[in-house]
This record gives sequence, structure tokens and C-alpha cells, in this order.
Amino acid sequence: MTNTRFQDSVKHLLLVGGGHSHLAVLKSFGDTPAAGARLALLSPSRHAFYSGMVPGVVAGHYRPEDCRVDLGALAARAGARFLLDSAAGVDPARREVTTARGERLHYDVLSLDTGSSAGGLAGAAEHALRVRPVEPFLAGWERLRESARRGEVRRIAVIGGGAAGVEVLLAMRHGLAGVAAQFALFSELPVLAGHGGRRRMARILGERGVAVRSGRKVVAADENGLELDGGERFEAQAAVWATGAYAPSWVAQSGLATDARGFVAVRDTLQSHSCPEIFAAGDVATVVGEARPKSGVFAVRQGPVLARNLRRALAGEVPVRFRPPSRSLALISCGDPYAVASWGRFSLEGAWVWRWKDRIDRRFVERYRLGPAGG
Ligand SMILES: Cc1cc2nc3c(=O)[nH]c(=O)nc-3n(C[C@H](O)[C@H](O)[C@H](O)COP(=O)(O)OP(=O)(O)OC[C@H]3O[C@@H](n4cnc5c(N)ncnc54)[C@H](O)[C@@H]3O)c2cc1C
Repeated sequence: MTNTRFQDSVKHLLLVGGGHSHLAVLKSFGDTPAAGARLALLSPSRHAFYSGMVPGVVAGHYRPEDCRVDLGALAARAGARFLLDSAAGVDPARREVTTARGERLHYDVLSLDTGSSAGGLAGAAEHALRVRPVEPFLAGWERLRESARRGEVRRIAVIGGGAAGVEVLLAMRHGLAGVAAQFALFSELPVLAGHGGRRRMARILGERGVAVRSGRKVVAADENGLELDGGERFEAQAAVWATGAYAPSWVAQSGLATDARGFVAVRDTLQSHSCPEIFAAGDVATVVGEARPKSGVFAVRQGPVLARNLRRALAGEVPVRFRPPSRSLALISCGDPYAVASWGRFSLEGAWVWRWKDRIDRRFVERYRLGPAGG
């Protein structure tokens, strides 16, 4: 086990995870280096995927490289050491992060942006394709598409009636145009609960022949399909697991203050409730008293505030507050170049909404790309 504590007076800022907020942090430190600070980025992958474009990859509108950012290049520009490994725990007393490979990394200021996990379901690891992490999901989709084209998959069940589940289902349907596959969507809550566009989307799912089973809890997946609450079975040759966000278990095990679901409890400055030198943003964090749905929109909004507060923490200055908007715009793609816009109780739809989303998404990725095709 190596200990990378340095015997010098510079402050060590350790960024864990290449999530949406940390992209803004890396860009900021690349644009304006912080004097007297040494940066490191810990990530299990060289690339960060922009999830908003992932359904478009599945549908065939984009290549995987169109929606990814080269973290190595972004880190190099920010003067940060890039460490290809993942965090397995934090020891706040020693100010160390332990990695999956057993390294111990010292920090003076720590920032967590590791996203959420897809959560557990009996049999899901073996028999369902999980939408997170993105890279294995896209590889699994390639295999599923080939099996469906060979006629081995005739029925596909998607579990999760939030925006990710709906988008991924409609994207798969578009990606399998001409293949005789049926789709079913299982959702414990009403599909797109809380979205102004839920009625429009219910109509679109119906028009496209998707069987929607809301109010049904899926309790297990196996090689023949799904088992529902109450023992009912649903036969399917493929299952895709796209339910809500779950907290990574190492967070609570590290002794950090968490919310009831195990996410890092942070103040409106994005500082941990238990350790002010630890910051967290994106899905892995919950701003206590200002909790919002776990979505990329909020992770993106937190990025510039996080960058500012990390600089202030390194300089020993008081951090500023993050003020989340009360609602956010959701642009939900429908597989083909068509999308539904949902903002509070209001909604709109059309091919122009898809083009609008496409422009926003491409612009986001372009902002963080330094080389051709995302490196
Ligand atoms: C298919 C799909 C479509 C979606 N579409 C939208 C959308 O259109 N709009 C929207 O607002 N939201 C969308 N979401 C939700 C959105 O993806 C998340 O809310 C968002 O990605 C959260 O961003 P983040 O910064 O928290 O972390 P993420 O973007 O999830 O990134 C976390 C990073 O941390 C790394 N990491 C993970 N664990 C560790 C570890 N232990 N150590 C080090 N690094 C680690 C990962 O490799 C990853 O690069 C979608 C989700 C999915 C699955």
C-alpha cells in the first residue's frame, strides 16, 4: 500500500469522479490555475460520458465518442495528476481516500462527484442490463441489438418509469426499427411522475405500441424474464434496469454524514455536514433542506459554484452558497428525432424540441473537448 502524502506546504485538492460538476471544476482550474495548490483527479475511466446523449447513441443518432469527454486531457490542462482507479472509502480523520487498488491518497480539500449507482434487484447483475455505468451499458446494448437482429430477443422489458427509462426504451425501439421486438415498461410509480409532460409521453408510448405496466413493482430478474410483486411473472428475453439513483455504499461506510438514502449530506455551500474540507456535488450529494431530483441538470448547475468554493477553501476563504432553481427543464427524447419538453406543469413536443436538445447537448460536450472526437 502506498501513501502519497507529500511533505511540502502546498495544498492538495483531490477530485474524485469525473462527473458533470467536476468537468466545470477542471475547466476552471485549466483556465485559471490556483497558486499553491496541487490537483489530482481519481476516475475509473479515462472518459466521462454525457448521459443526456446516451439514448441518442442507442437510437443511432450519435457515436459513443460524440458524447464523451477525455478526462485525461482535461486534467492535464488543469495541471492535475490523473489517477485511473476508483475510490473505495474516505478516512476523514486521516484525510485520505482509499482506492479500489489499495492506494491511500492524501488530501487537504476533497471533492466528490461520483454520481449514483443503479441500485440492486435480485438477479439484476446477471440477467438485466443496467443503464449505469454508461460504458458497460453501451457495450451490453450492442450485444442485445445483435441478439434481437438474430431473432433471439423478441420481448424487452425496461424497469424504471423515469426519464432515463422512457428515453432508453424509445431509443432501443428506434435502434431496432425493422426488427420484430416488443417493448414493455414497468414502473412502480406512474410513468414520469412529477413531469408536466407525462400525459404527452403516455400518449406517445401508446402510439408506439409500448405496453406500460405502472404501479407494479419488479422484485427479481432471471433468465426467463421478471418476477413481479405478488408472484406474477413476465416473460422476456431481455431486461433493462433503469430505476432511480442509489447511493454508493462506500459513502456511508466512510462515516460521512448522509441523508436517509445514504447520499453525502451537504450544506448549501456543497460542503459536507460532518467535514467542511470535503465537498460533494451531483447525484452523490444531497443539499439538506434544498433537495432536488437527482439529475444531470443540477450537477451541471453546481459545477461553477463548486469550482469557486474549492478555490476559496484552498485559500482559506468563506465559501459561497449554491441556490438551486425550484424546477428544471427536462427535454425527453422519443427515439426518433422528436422530443417532449417538460417544465413544471407545462409541456411541449415536436421535432424542433429534439433539435433544441441536440444543440444544447452538443454544446455542453464541445465545451469540455480538447482534441478530435473527445480524445
Ligand atoms: C440513460 C440516462 C439518461 C439521462 N438523461 C438525463 C437528461 O437528459 N437530463 C438530466 O438532467 N439527467 C439525465 N440523466 C441523469 C444524469 O445522468 C445524472 O443525474 C448525472 O449524470 C449525475 O451527474 P454526476 O455529476 O453526479 O455524476 P456522473 O455524470 O454520473 O459521473 C460520475 C463519474 O464518477 C465516476 N465514478 C463513479 N464511482 C466512482 C468512484 N468510486 N471513484 C471515482 N470515480 C467514480 C464515474 O466513472 C463517472 O465518470 C440520465 C441518466 C441516464 C442513466
